[in-house]
Amino acid sequence: MRDVDQSADSETPYECFDCGTIVLAATNPGQCDDCGGEIRNRLIPLE
Ligand SMILES: [Zn+2]
Repeated sequence: MRDVDQSADSETPYECFDCGTIVLAATNPGQCDDCGGEIRNRLIPLE
């Protein structure tokens, strides 16, 4: 599975599933800084 078209140097908003914290990052942070919850890219709809 390939990455979605994404500029290497552009940050995109990621949102924590658990607490809703928004993190701006160029790549998926993996987990929330605040609660350690799962992070998802807000620009990519879940399927
Ligand atoms: Zn969180």
